[in-house]
Amino acid sequence: MKYVMEDPWKIIEDGYHPEDNRLYESLMSLGNGHMGHRGNFEEDFSGDSLQGSYAAGVYYPDKTRVGWWKNGYPEYFAKVLNGTNIIGIHVYIDGKAVDLGQIQPKNFTRVLDMKNGCLDRSFTYDVHGKSFDFIIKRFLSYDTPEIGAIAYQIHAKDDAVIQFAPYLDGNVHNEDANYDEFFWENCSQYCGPDYGTITMSTKKTGFTVHTAMKSTLHSKAGLVTEPASYKSDDRYAEHLYESHVKAGESVTLYKYFSLVTDRDHDISKLTAHGKTKLEEAAELGFDKLYSAHTDKWAEIWKEADIEIDGDVAAQQGIRFNIFHMKQTYNGEDPRLNIGPKGFTGEKYGGSTYWDTEAYCLPFYLSTSHEDIPRNLLIYRYKHLDKAIENASKLGLRGALYPMVTMNGEECHNEWEITFEEIHRNAAIAYAIFNYIRYTGDEACLSEYGLEVLLNISRFWADRVNYNPYKDCYMMLGVTGPNEYENNVNNNWYTNLMASWTLEYSLEALDWVKKNSPKRAEEVLEKYTFTDSELETWKDITDKIYLPEIEELDVFAQQDGYMDKEQILVSELSSEDLPLNQKWSWDKILRSCFIKQADVLQGIFFLSDRYDIDTKRRNFDFYEPRTVHESSLSPCVYSIIAGEVGYHNKAYELYQRSARLDLDNYNNDTDDGLHITSMAGTWMSVVYGFGGFSTSDGVAKFNPFLPKQWNALNFHMLFRDRLLVVGIDKDNVTIEMVSGDPLDIENL
Ligand code: BGC
Repeated sequence: MKYVMEDPWKIIEDGYHPEDNRLYESLMSLGNGHMGHRGNFEEDFSGDSLQGSYAAGVYYPDKTRVGWWKNGYPEYFAKVLNGTNIIGIHVYIDGKAVDLGQIQPKNFTRVLDMKNGCLDRSFTYDVHGKSFDFIIKRFLSYDTPEIGAIAYQIHAKDDAVIQFAPYLDGNVHNEDANYDEFFWENCSQYCGPDYGTITMSTKKTGFTVHTAMKSTLHSKAGLVTEPASYKSDDRYAEHLYESHVKAGESVTLYKYFSLVTDRDHDISKLTAHGKTKLEEAAELGFDKLYSAHTDKWAEIWKEADIEIDGDVAAQQGIRFNIFHMKQTYNGEDPRLNIGPKGFTGEKYGGSTYWDTEAYCLPFYLSTSHEDIPRNLLIYRYKHLDKAIENASKLGLRGALYPMVTMNGEECHNEWEITFEEIHRNAAIAYAIFNYIRYTGDEACLSEYGLEVLLNISRFWADRVNYNPYKDCYMMLGVTGPNEYENNVNNNWYTNLMASWTLEYSLEALDWVKKNSPKRAEEVLEKYTFTDSELETWKDITDKIYLPEIEELDVFAQQDGYMDKEQILVSELSSEDLPLNQKWSWDKILRSCFIKQADVLQGIFFLSDRYDIDTKRRNFDFYEPRTVHESSLSPCVYSIIAGEVGYHNKAYELYQRSARLDLDNYNNDTDDGLHITSMAGTWMSVVYGFGGFSTSDGVAKFNPFLPKQWNALNFHMLFRDRLLVVGIDKDNVTIEMVSGDPLDIENL
């Protein structure tokens, strides 16, 4: 089923589809790095909806819920908090509330305009035998992130009394609360003729979020700046504006709102700051605010756009992915990270997974200035002490970064993931390497990289065990990236990346010893690393066990993988898919089916180590067994498919990644979008079709164009240059829009 109309810049719900409302609410979410909300309606809606408003970095530690407690479980799972509804406006026509759940609208469209970063809605609403056209626009300012605005216009075809009651409502729950608990404490509400506010604090974490609103009404009768009446109640503030309109006249309510938190401002100044921001916004007016906001989006697109000629579905897909990445995280606040659902839903919780380093970092390296990806590395550096504590809780040395976190503490609580999916540590080490390879900023090793690398390596060295009978090091009881199998021995990817980390850490240490000997000494001393410990690391890298399926000459995902009944995804009936919704967990675990890139993830990361034939053999073996039920999967397979010459397959997997949410492939878009995999989609264009790679400061391209496309152009930042790479059926061009000359290789 097609949910949205194809358009290069817009996501269009054409016609009214209340049965899929949650899906459209996810797709049409807005965000500006500081706050975000789902594409909910402003007016009352009695149909099915997930009302969602979120403030970056504000979370709640929801007490863990498990069947049987195991030692080491984290106490809580950090929930992304649903906060005060700031967009709400009750609308009454001749005293009756407008509710699209009650009266079906005509000519309904809901449109996410990605070029300008706004949500537009229009429809015709007939009530009491009268007819009205509605046009609504809303945005969250990218220019002034604490501000958002709504222009709500009604054009009357008949005389009527129209009332608008813009409100703030803090009576909101997280649907996924473990114990049905209300996560907020009420601090205060205020409503006067000037503005309305709600201030609430989270229980336990004590974040204070202050929201404020102010509106103006514009009609033929003139401008109204003060409400006719106002009221407040528990966690609720409301203004009432009234207009008597004649047939043919329009009335518009402009609602301005601010959201400020004590994460950014001293609590004693919070209310005053929120008020100032709000007043400034209202003073400036909707049009000027909007134009400053769209200017910011124009700047983003200038550096990050990808143009695909000849395939609107593919074009829409990539812009949708880039747009949501930029809405979720702009890198300006180093305390923040990139949650898998961003501001589009509550599922998953937490904000930081290995997704950040493995998938998102490359996107930010190429589409933003260096301090932003750098902030992502520093984020982990700041959590190093907690990662050391986390490893020691498991009885291990070194640092184990959490699977999911908000503040450095582990907050995931499925034992097979929390304790066993330790490959995440390697992605954090790999990100340091990847960042330096891209930017050339080796000095980051002395500043913070080395400490992180050495402590992760110490963890790996403690986690492997030496097998004297086989004279090799093994790693038992892990979960690889493929979460459809747990507690496996010698996951190829984990062993490979652990040994790579040890090797790279020793190289990094040599670099720091050479370039900043004092700092190297300081780090070694601080954590008491000895020569003999470092010697062991060399031995591990020499003797790490990497399982293979010899008869097929491919790497074995883990010991015993071939003991499983070998069936291909193509042999399953469509009734079986997606497995995670159709099969018992037990059946999934026993099957050979793979959730996401696992061996292929290793081949992707350490691409230089493997020749094309090796890549092809592994792709041929693993892809037919992979169900891609993690959104992170198709992009990696797409890149390798392109590299080994399977261009149609690369294209098919690209479409699956780019349109995962737009086409609701995994039947779960109503929960929220798959934000982190959107960076993977971007990689499948730039690394896949563009064939981008880099080493020694040289940007290399080995492109191919899917036959479905006429041309592909992508913008990317590389070492202070802005490049536009153009690929059409005959030529490849690389335009340097700004910056000094650069070594480029067209492979
Ligand atoms: C994937 C993980 C990923 C998580 C968050 C899971 O479904 O298997 O690899 O970290 O989603 O995106």
